[in-house]
Order: sequence, then C-alpha cells, then structure tokens
Amino acid sequence: MNNKLSIQERFEFINNKIIKICQRIGRKENQISILPVSKNFTCNNIQEAQLLGFKRFGENRTQEIHSKYKELINKNIKWVMIGHLQKNKIKDIIEYIEEVQSLDSLELAQNLNNYLQKQNKTLNVMVQIKTSPEPSKYGLNPSDLISFLHKISDTTTHIKVIGLMTIAELTSDQNRIRECFRLTRKLLEQASKYNMPSVNLEHLSMGMSNDFEIAIEEGATEIRLGSSLFGNR
Ligand SMILES: *Cc1c(COP(=O)(O)O)cnc(C)c1O
Repeated sequence: MNNKLSIQERFEFINNKIIKICQRIGRKENQISILPVSKNFTCNNIQEAQLLGFKRFGENRTQEIHSKYKELINKNIKWVMIGHLQKNKIKDIIEYIEEVQSLDSLELAQNLNNYLQKQNKTLNVMVQIKTSPEPSKYGLNPSDLISFLHKISDTTTHIKVIGLMTIAELTSDQNRIRECFRLTRKLLEQASKYNMPSVNLEHLSMGMSNDFEIAIEEGATEIRLGSSLFGNR
C-alpha cells in the first residue's frame, strides 16, 4: 500500500477488502472487527484512529502500554494486551487493561486472578494457541487446551475466557498459514462443547496485516492490524 496514505484512507481500503471477502465467502462483515495494533506507533496515530471510531488498541509490551496509558490518560482508550505477559509485569498494567489475548499458562492465569481479586475486577481473556513450530512464538499447545480451560474454570474467579487467539506461522506458504487458523477454529468448536463456568468461547482473534484475508476465510471474528492500518514506519 502507498505509504503516504492517511489512516482513514488505509481504513477505507481495508474495509472494502473485508466487505469483498465477506461477499465472496458468505459472511457478514459486521461479524469481523478490527483491533488496531498501535505498538511502535505514536499516541498521535492512536488519536487519529480514535477519530475513525476505534476504542480498543492492541499493544504487546507492558512498558509501552504503560507510557501510552499515561500520555492518553483521559482519552477513554481500552488497552488490549496481545504480547507475552510476564507475571512480574502484571502489576504495571492490571489497573487499566481491558483484555488480555495472550494467556498462555495456568500460572499466569492464577497470578492475574490474584491481582484481579484484590481489585474486585473481572478481566476478559483469550487463550493464545501455539499453532506454529517457531520457538519464538508463545502459546498453549493445542492438545492441552481442554484440560487448561477446565483448570482455569476450576481455579480462577475473576477471569472470563472469551475466545482464542493465534499468530500464524511466518511463511509465504498460504496453506500453512491457513492450517494455523483452521486448527484454532477447530479447537474453539471442540472446546465449546464443554460447559465450563466462566468460559464462553465466542471470539477468534487471528489474522494480521499480511494474512487477515485467510483468517477471515477461516472464521476470524477479530483481526489485529498494525502496519496495514497505521502505515509502515
Ligand atoms: C504486531 C502484532 C500484530 C500486528 O502486526 P501487523 O503485521 O503490523 O499487522 C498483530 N498481532 C500481534 C500479536 C502483534 O504482536
């Protein structure tokens, strides 16, 4: 995409693309939402995107969320953590994050729960599924999901699991990317058969700037867009 475009122009371009994909595959475009990923972009960029109606913003580092939160404190932004969260960093962001999409261990869930309990606050989370073999990728092993959800449901009180998140393999092989998304959707369908208190799997956060088209075809309800929306730095 032309790098001189404004965020609004990029948004319109993306939106048209989503509409076309949906028409082609028979989904409704209002079933798919965009989570703007503002990591590495400025607070001005965030405010520009806010003018387009975006309220939630994804970030992957606690430090960056914290400094942006402070700079934009009265701007009514809902911060979504999409990166690996270390338990010793929870305290830095717990007071103002709206959602965590990168839940990947029971220990993290229980640590989050302890903080939430003290604040009498409930947090929506998604479980991140590791669908590709790259060692740099975090996430739960697909085969562990069901027992993981049972444990979360049994041992936490202030966490609501609302869906699954994945990052597809970084590859030009479209089929391989599709498999990552397909597996995540299959897991969501399997896990939804169990009736677990505080687990209500409705969201599939998958697809980024380079693969959101495939993700929508495979059932994504939320696509996480950084560079395609904000531009290449
Ligand atoms: C950075 C990031 C994105 C957005 O990536 P783009 O390719 O810039 O759209 C989405 N999800 C996660 C988890 C990220 O870290």
